[in-house]
Amino acid sequence: MAENSHIATGAIHVHTTDSDGTKTHEEVAAIASEVGLDFVMFADHMTLQSFHDGKEGYYNDLLVLIGYEHNDNDDCNHYLIFDGDEVFPSSMTAAEYVAAAASKGTLGILAHPDEIRGRDARFRSYPWTDWSVTQFDGIELWNQMSEWMENLKFFNQIRMLFSPRKFLRAPTDRIRRKWDELSLKRKIVGIASVDAHGFLYRAGPLKLTIFPYKVQFKTLRTHVMLDRPLSKDLSEAKQQIYSAIRDCRVFISNYRWGEARDFKFTITSQNGSADIGGSLPFTGSATAKITVPLKGKIRLIGNSKVIKEAKARELEYLIKSPGIYRVEVYHGRKGWIFSNHIRLNAPGE
Ligand SMILES: [Zn+2]
Ligand SMILES: [Zn+2]
Repeated sequence: MAENSHIATGAIHVHTTDSDGTKTHEEVAAIASEVGLDFVMFADHMTLQSFHDGKEGYYNDLLVLIGYEHNDNDDCNHYLIFDGDEVFPSSMTAAEYVAAAASKGTLGILAHPDEIRGRDARFRSYPWTDWSVTQFDGIELWNQMSEWMENLKFFNQIRMLFSPRKFLRAPTDRIRRKWDELSLKRKIVGIASVDAHGFLYRAGPLKLTIFPYKVQFKTLRTHVMLDRPLSKDLSEAKQQIYSAIRDCRVFISNYRWGEARDFKFTITSQNGSADIGGSLPFTGSATAKITVPLKGKIRLIGNSKVIKEAKARELEYLIKSPGIYRVEVYHGRKGWIFSNHIRLNAPGE
């Protein structure tokens, strides 16, 4: 059984002054370490300048990793590319840059894939449109900025501006269904993304920074399960984080409802035991075991359907069929923790 007690918690998809963010890497790193994050994965639009300037590394105890966000000519199909060292030509189509990124062995994640906007015509959406692509590693299951913008209406804008964290509900049903459907065929990691810019918002005479970085870092977090503590050596630590993400050893949370680090989800059977991201051959039955740091509404999802729901701190359930299983935990009606899948493979799979 894989040892999963080493959790690294981070913020993924953060912008800086290298593109449309409002703070530098150093300033953002200081804020992230102040709120207790272990790592930040930066992704500015169409540039790896700071990566080439050697800005990856440890800032006190915080690991800074740098990728970038690619977009197509229509400014759609935003794609996060980590673990690479080149920015692909802006003339490429989405299918071309997804394939090019895969051929270089990078870590590629579809950004805000199902984004739609509320009625506010001032803002357009930037969804993923080319679903013929297959070589990506993951998707943003929960993008803070997308959800906030989708819920933004004229009548609620003032309230949403002043308490942005209260409005986060959960990843959309659309994207969870899509993710389950895609994951039946192969492993696809689901991450949380803050898409932090710290930008200025205008509502009539009012002008204020929505989601300052510090507020962002206290909301959606991605927890990565490592088999040993995060190395102090940059290249080693980088591979630990990236390989665990590729391998779906990930759960995500909204920190607003509590620290989620101690969340656990395992499935055991006579064939062994699997943690999040893992798999087991299925021969008759297996037991899912879920432990939550604080009581919440726990949902066990099998092949996209809720198969067990209970308000508890612990849940055990006897699984009788093969498939892909994941867990959702709610605080009231608000989403708190979402795990990646564990696979129970039918004989012959
Ligand atoms: Zn984007
Ligand atoms: Zn972005």
